[in-house]
Amino acid sequence: MTTEPCNCRERIDAGLAQHNTRVKSYFTLSANSVGMPWPIETVQVDKGRGKPKASALFASFCPFCGVSLRKPEGADA
Ligand SMILES: [Zn+2]
Repeated sequence: MTTEPCNCRERIDAGLAQHNTRVKSYFTLSANSVGMPWPIETVQVDKGRGKPKASALFASFCPFCGVSLRKPEGADA
């Protein structure tokens, strides 16, 4: 299994650019790396004052090519 990140985001953003669109970007920080995961859209269920906001959810695998987006085992050792 490859541990190299794919370039789907760059390819898709290039294609979307002609429609004035790009994939929403989030940057995540962990001990030794910076990630740019694919977001899964979530919505807040119970709305109103004091209700917690919707949590962020990210794909574990690239939704276009299936490459794992998780760090390889031992990467943060
Ligand atoms: Zn991909």
